[in-house]
Amino acid sequence: MRALPDHIAACAVSALLALSSLAAAAPVDPTAARKLHFDAIVIDTHDDTTQRMLDPAFDLGERHADGNIDIPRMREGGLDAVFFSIWIPGTVTGEVAVQRALTQIAAVQRQVAAHPRDLVLVTTADGIRKAAAEGRIAVLLGVEGGHMIGNDLANLRRFFALGVRYMTLTHSVNVDWADSSTDRPRNVGLNDFGREVVREMNRLGMMIDISHVSDATFDDVLALSTAPVIASHSSARALCRVPRNMNDRMLRDLAARGGVAHVNFHMGFLAQEYSNALKANDGRIDKSIDAQIVERCGDNEACQIITGSQLARERVTNGTLPRVEWNAIVDHMAHAARVAGVQHVGLGSDFDGADMPYGMEDVSGLPKITAELLARGYKPQEVRGMLGGNLLRVMEQVEAAARR
Ligand SMILES: [Zn+2]
Repeated sequence: MRALPDHIAACAVSALLALSSLAAAAPVDPTAARKLHFDAIVIDTHDDTTQRMLDPAFDLGERHADGNIDIPRMREGGLDAVFFSIWIPGTVTGEVAVQRALTQIAAVQRQVAAHPRDLVLVTTADGIRKAAAEGRIAVLLGVEGGHMIGNDLANLRRFFALGVRYMTLTHSVNVDWADSSTDRPRNVGLNDFGREVVREMNRLGMMIDISHVSDATFDDVLALSTAPVIASHSSARALCRVPRNMNDRMLRDLAARGGVAHVNFHMGFLAQEYSNALKANDGRIDKSIDAQIVERCGDNEACQIITGSQLARERVTNGTLPRVEWNAIVDHMAHAARVAGVQHVGLGSDFDGADMPYGMEDVSGLPKITAELLARGYKPQEVRGMLGGNLLRVMEQVEAAARR
């Protein structure tokens, strides 16, 4: 975002290059595609809606005209499990960061408590399956940025006890113990304390999320972790050259250790043209959007998320930013599947934290992805994996590694 979760960077190669590695299959029966989608366990590993939940007036149970996520639209999209992101800017550190993370965890817990028929807080792969069988949406927690542990493993353990099941090691700036992909190298990967964090996450059974980290940090994590790791919301750098995306070598290495890369839906990570347009003329468009966001929202991050998205769409409408279509998401999934294997791809939308492509204005659009994957020739079992089965496998392996 912009000042926010993921608006920052954008890309460079045409998404067209990614067009299905598979031969187009026979035409897909739309009814069968819908049935598969609603029958499968669909998991989204990254949603920034938590910022909106900080407003006591926000109700996840109501249908909203803005934003990307609420219960009615999650139902329409056939979403079975969602990781709500606990996120504050990486420049906020120390005890303040810890406290703000706890406040956000409480905000998610309040929404779950307010909607017991629709939502249930879950911490295991089995919990997700059970929730799906009961017809409830499994809510999980992910901490987006190691700055929120305040350089103290006791806080990591506290988050785990509260139900947090992944931590993204950095956000868009370095933390004291790990480098970010969008900051200047400092530790060149993990330092000694960073290695302790990884070991403790393995011990607890908390997934390690390498989205946002530098390539060197990624390599250090992979060399050290005894359990598979995930990218909760990262797309393919071969299709969109930004530091936030993963190159083919990283995709292969992640897969070789059993991990899953969850494709990010942000237009600036999907399409090079969009990324280039944002960065052109010293980032003139990006800066103008940022300035308007601050003018309208101040430091209200929920407002910033919604407004940033609206301002980006205004610029697509007036032609200053290119239009990116939703099927670019599937181009990235197909690329990752070709490079890393179909068992190592998933969905990490970045809903309510990024600029969504056209046709994927909110979570209700998810069934289109299933139909498109089938149309591109993936087998139903492979599609189920990409929708959520692959992540369930990682969660089980992380849980098993912690028991050892
Ligand atoms: Zn992010």
